[in-house]
Amino acid sequence: ENLLEVRNLKKYFPIKGGLMRRTVAQVKALDGVSFSIKKGETLGLVGESGCGKTTTGRTVLRLIPPSGGEVLFEGQDVLKASSSRMRTLRRDMQIVFQDPYASLNPRIPVGQSIAEGLTIHNIGTPKERLDQVAQVLDRVGLNSGHMRRFPHEFSGGQRQRIGIARALVMQPKLIVCDEPVSALDVSIQAQVLNLLNDLQKDLGLTYLFIAHNLSVVEHISNRVGVMYLGRMVELASRDQLFRKPMHPYTKALMSAIPLPDPTIKRDRIILEGDVPSPVNPPSGCRFHPRCWLAQDICKHDDPIFEEKEPGHFVACHFAQG
Ligand code: ADP
Ligand code: MG
Repeated sequence: ENLLEVRNLKKYFPIKGGLMRRTVAQVKALDGVSFSIKKGETLGLVGESGCGKTTTGRTVLRLIPPSGGEVLFEGQDVLKASSSRMRTLRRDMQIVFQDPYASLNPRIPVGQSIAEGLTIHNIGTPKERLDQVAQVLDRVGLNSGHMRRFPHEFSGGQRQRIGIARALVMQPKLIVCDEPVSALDVSIQAQVLNLLNDLQKDLGLTYLFIAHNLSVVEHISNRVGVMYLGRMVELASRDQLFRKPMHPYTKALMSAIPLPDPTIKRDRIILEGDVPSPVNPPSGCRFHPRCWLAQDICKHDDPIFEEKEPGHFVACHFAQG
């Protein structure tokens, strides 16, 4: 069954301007994003910087309020949860950041940072918390002797392990991994990805795994959603997506990654023109590749998300290749 279901999520950030700091425009960070994640599954979320991945993760965790839409966790609306339900949800849903310093205070020993959630939620005695911290440190490949050290005494990869331990100690059901390996050396990335993979299998975790790099999600995801300008443009099983990308934006992303093994062949990837950068979005219809050239002839406001083959969804107006 679905652990998480996101329906038509919208988030508009106001842009303030002028002397009165009035809202002069809005950034459509999320413009109707829908997906679900089954228990024990990893959904990879990819797209270039600025497409709305972090906003999706933060909204799911109710760290920021959305402008519209629904988030269901175990069938219940997260956005309408009572404060007592929210306390449970805060434990059940954890986040691992790109930058471990986002969750580690440089001035306090890492053991204390890891135990923070337990302390806040008043879980266990101080002794029990210490045991829990020792256990998760061991689980992420460090040891209890590291507890009293400070974040700067660790390497980047070790710091990320500590960030993972901090999430793990709460025994969550869902972890939002927001580019957890993007800041690490390539040689370390695989180690941290393997750790996350092992943890998921051993503990039955569910991941929303965010990355801007398709090759990262290829290794860890069961299904992959491709985001572009605040919308999901393609959503499919990993195999479907990598074997047969359909949306022009997905194709553009794929053409940018080298194949690790030259004996593996993908369907020929055809690009139709330039894919505009999310930083400079074109006006008008943003989804049909031809609209980027002749947007005045496009009448579509809302992209239709069509199921092109079982389980393979593509935003409307992609050119058949
Ligand atoms: P990603 O994680 O995919 O790089 P984000 O979700 O961080 O993208 O951002 C999506 C869009 O929303 C971007 O255009 C970003 O500039 C904008 N945005 C994000 N957070 C804020 C904020 N707090 N205020 C205004 N705009 C924001
Ligand atoms: Mg981000």
